[in-house]
Amino acid sequence: MKKKWMCWCLGIALLLVLMPTVAVPVWENVTTSKISEDDISKLTEAVMKEMTQQKGASIMSAADVKSRAQVNVQRRDPDKKWVFGTAVIEAPKEKGAYPEGWIYVAKMEGAEWKVALEGSKSFQSWLQDAPSTIVNSNEKKVFANQSSDVKVMADQDQLRLPFALGATWTLTGGPHGYSGQNTPYSSLDLAGGNQQVLAAGSGNAYTMCGNGQGWVRIIHANGFSTDYYHLWNNIRPNGSWVDAGTFLGYTGTDVSCGGYASGRHVHFALRYNNAYVSINGREMGGWVFWSGNSAYEGYAMHGSTVRYPGQGLYNYGALAPNQGIVDVMGSGTLNVRSGPGSSYPIVGTKNDGEIVTIACTATGTTYTGRSKTTNIWDRIGNGQWVSDAYVWTGSSSAVAPTCN
Ligand SMILES: [Zn+2]
Repeated sequence: MKKKWMCWCLGIALLLVLMPTVAVPVWENVTTSKISEDDISKLTEAVMKEMTQQKGASIMSAADVKSRAQVNVQRRDPDKKWVFGTAVIEAPKEKGAYPEGWIYVAKMEGAEWKVALEGSKSFQSWLQDAPSTIVNSNEKKVFANQSSDVKVMADQDQLRLPFALGATWTLTGGPHGYSGQNTPYSSLDLAGGNQQVLAAGSGNAYTMCGNGQGWVRIIHANGFSTDYYHLWNNIRPNGSWVDAGTFLGYTGTDVSCGGYASGRHVHFALRYNNAYVSINGREMGGWVFWSGNSAYEGYAMHGSTVRYPGQGLYNYGALAPNQGIVDVMGSGTLNVRSGPGSSYPIVGTKNDGEIVTIACTATGTTYTGRSKTTNIWDRIGNGQWVSDAYVWTGSSSAVAPTCN
């Protein structure tokens, strides 16, 4: 405990000493402003202070603080003295290390910059207060759903895998953290096919690194956000809306914000409410991901099909909230019955891995599947019912309303 505190102090001291040497890349499309370079260096200082506070000793105790902070100004409002940008703590150039980054909003009060980082309460409210030159109405709407208030994370993220639908890419690294061993294991490494990395869902897209290269973040409207790192020739969206499947860049080995890539891939990470979250048990593109004992291990499942790192993942696309994946636990097919229970006649079967759309639900015979014991039955067509125990929906509750 004592040691941590000392490291933290040392980190701050080091920061203060090195502050003036930190480069502040300014975007080409910013308004010519009355905000002076002196203001900008004070802003950098304020942002770094905020980053230090949020990360504490774990990040700032690293030796090379100077090269690790990137404070980027993407938009300025000259009159009202508001700034919108990204701030990054560069990762050390080591295998399995990843940078951490925030979108931030800052405003000048008196002669002082006040800074709010993504994930903080003030970030939410300042974004709404910011002039439209700084944050547009669409961004305000989308960010409002990234609530840091108590909100239960949705069972379904409604994301596809970040490449073409129907293509198969290699899972080059199973669930891992932003600095390799760090939890939560929020991230996957993927490569293959035409190497074109596509948006896993629609949302507002941003580049994070000072040079605009390598790292794209998309803020989705449902509270989730996704990160894509190591990209080559990425788009430079600066907050513009992208649809699911929009080209973001090519897999690459870019380390503009630090870290290391031994070969071309995309580091794909899941966030919720502006923070990295575990992908353990989460579905994307028709695959449910499970963490292993160590970073980069683990596996993915589609129904009963298991794929380990080094193997291919077919991109089935995003599941709708009322869709599920048939999982008959390794053998046979799933009986489809004419009503919600085992006493109804069998009218058909579904194969393991089939994606079904659930119109409504009822209760009936209880069954135990891979992930739940339930008496819920799903109506998947006219006079077609299956036990929800054998349908992966991300939830042990009904994902569609009760049938009339
Ligand atoms: Zn990775």
